[in-house]
Amino acid sequence: MAQLSGKAALVTGAASGIGRATALTLAREGARIMVTDLNGSGAEAVAAEIAAAGGAAQAMQHDTTDEDRWQAVIAATQDAFGKLDILVNNAGIAIAGPLETFSLADWRKQQAVNCDGVFLGIKHAFPAMRAAGGGSIINVSSIAGLRGNRSGLGAYSATKGSVRLLTKTAALEGAKDGIRVNSIHPGIIETPIWDAILPAGQAGRNRGDLNQRAAQSVPTGVLGQPQDIANGILFLASSQSSYMTGSELVVDAGVTAG
Ligand code: NAD
Repeated sequence: MAQLSGKAALVTGAASGIGRATALTLAREGARIMVTDLNGSGAEAVAAEIAAAGGAAQAMQHDTTDEDRWQAVIAATQDAFGKLDILVNNAGIAIAGPLETFSLADWRKQQAVNCDGVFLGIKHAFPAMRAAGGGSIINVSSIAGLRGNRSGLGAYSATKGSVRLLTKTAALEGAKDGIRVNSIHPGIIETPIWDAILPAGQAGRNRGDLNQRAAQSVPTGVLGQPQDIANGILFLASSQSSYMTGSELVVDAGVTAG
């Protein structure tokens, strides 16, 4: 029996990387998926992939910093699937640079997507999930939200630390209505987000730089794949984690263990 049959899920930032793997995984487990992304055509492609595999999905262009759009996306999910049970606040960006030279504009841009977007998702999912009799919200933070950062990701780290604590307050506020809220903290996962972080250089640099990072900081020496995080999100979305709320699931092959 599929773990999420009868459930309706909304995944943001689902055109790429962790969001895409999550949408495909939740759909394989029987959930109907609203696939959203700033990149509307990318979201449509993932919804088509789900449909081709026999699942049910719809797609919407969705900038998670836009409150009106959040209301439209949640209303459309309820119209299409009758309810909202699962929200994965996954959309995020990473802008690198030392704090001393970091522009206020970049700080605000990163805060807007990584923090405002998650806040708005929680805010507008709550009434929908209360109407559904409960639900599960999974906020994609990072191991960068658990500690300071030595490699120029201080502003990013601040946003992910904020997501970690926002998750805990949301868990407290949602508990009486059966709404669980947990954060997941990926380690170094091979996705296009690194294209914006790693310094420009020769062709093929990203894979090489990522491998170097893995060799230096991942105890197993292995880079994570989007599916590794989708597996954790599936657990937090499903009844397997029904006694968990306000928790942090770290999926990092031991990076933060030492
Ligand atoms: P990715 O770049 O592959 O995917 C991010 C997606 O978010 C893209 O499809 C992009 O279009 C979308 N997006 C960006 N701004 C948006 C907005 N305003 N509204 C809606 N969608 C928007 O990156 P990824 O690695 O899959 O990242 C997913 C999440 O995982 C992010 O929150 C990221 O911070 C987090 N994370 C990633 C890693 C990693 O190593 N890859 C580690 C820890 C945490």
